[in-house]
Amino acid sequence: MKGDPKKLGFSTRAIHAGQEPDPATGAINVPIYATSTYVQDELGKHKGYEYARVQNPTREALERNIASLEGGLSGHAYASGMAAISTLMTMVKAGEHIVASHTVYGGTYRLLTQVLDRYDLQTSWVDTSNLDEIEAAMTPQTRMLFVETPTNPMMGITDLAGAAEIAHRHGAVLAVDNTFASPYFQRPLEHGADIVMHSATKFLNGHSDALGGLLVAARPEDGEWFAFVSKSAGAVLGPFDAYLTLRGIKTLEVRMERHEANGRTLADYLDAHGKVGRVFYPGLAGHPGHDVHRRQASGFGALISFDVGSLAGAKIVLDRVRVMSLAESLGGIETLISHPATMTHAAVPTAERQRLGIVDGLVRLSVGLENVADLLADLEQALAGL
Ligand SMILES: *Cc1c(COP(=O)(O)O)cnc(C)c1O
Repeated sequence: MKGDPKKLGFSTRAIHAGQEPDPATGAINVPIYATSTYVQDELGKHKGYEYARVQNPTREALERNIASLEGGLSGHAYASGMAAISTLMTMVKAGEHIVASHTVYGGTYRLLTQVLDRYDLQTSWVDTSNLDEIEAAMTPQTRMLFVETPTNPMMGITDLAGAAEIAHRHGAVLAVDNTFASPYFQRPLEHGADIVMHSATKFLNGHSDALGGLLVAARPEDGEWFAFVSKSAGAVLGPFDAYLTLRGIKTLEVRMERHEANGRTLADYLDAHGKVGRVFYPGLAGHPGHDVHRRQASGFGALISFDVGSLAGAKIVLDRVRVMSLAESLGGIETLISHPATMTHAAVPTAERQRLGIVDGLVRLSVGLENVADLLADLEQALAGL
């Protein structure tokens, strides 16, 4: 690819940004550089590569690619989404304070409440869909506002521009977990965020065959810090998984379009179904945050939660599906169905789950790329058991 990549469309950058043909052979795909070290020409003279924890060409191609897709300065790739968040949190020092969405990914909650609290990092958990709650939680010690939008499983929406304004006015950075929307639908840096984080395990890879995590920095000092922590703490992504993630990202645009088309069809079907209670999907006009999401994102994605009234009802639906698979995770080509109260959110105390709306009858779908008529028929026969 020649010329300024910033001027090119999303899918062109997804396929080409950061990925020059291999200089040795012209191979069109970035090779999997399976090497731990690099031979130096002579003492003090090398080709820019010394040791694989610090530099790996396959990983670097992925890092350049995600920086382009999110519109950031630098990308940083980690062994998992949680490794990326662990690295991100090293921006905060002992005695400083974080404000975070109260319905963040369960692993993020566990990291902050059971690991990083040992290092005297204080976190306040607030409903970030309400900007007044964010404002009220900010203190002179607050160094980071960490939000997820949409959230799991209630699809809560946070106003990114509003959150960025509050964070910056209080001298804090805004970091956004953009896993659910992907950069195809939502680019938080364009709304004032300072850092974007991804579990690349989900939509970016998209094929349920690798773990990975990514950070994108908008400011040079943050990028330099992440590179320094990668080298020092070493939670970097291996070249095989970097290759799989790059391969997945090449089709992100067409996959997200189809994920969303299937998602909308299923959400409308569920919304009109007599045996289904509330349906949580940002694309439904009645969804809280629908208008805010429409302002800051170009699509509604493929995650849907719906209430079938009871644990017994949820069990019937989960046991009867045939095309959909009962599993945790999301964002892959196959449709996954899960039960938040006993699976992803089992560790949340019952009273707190009720408060968040994660009732026993709630079922979550990550809608995949199968033929939509097959998905509709599968839901129909499963719901007929209620
Ligand atoms: C899966 C997920 C994570 C954690 O990523 P891993 O790759 O599983 O470590 C973080 N945030 C969100 C929103 C996720 O869905």
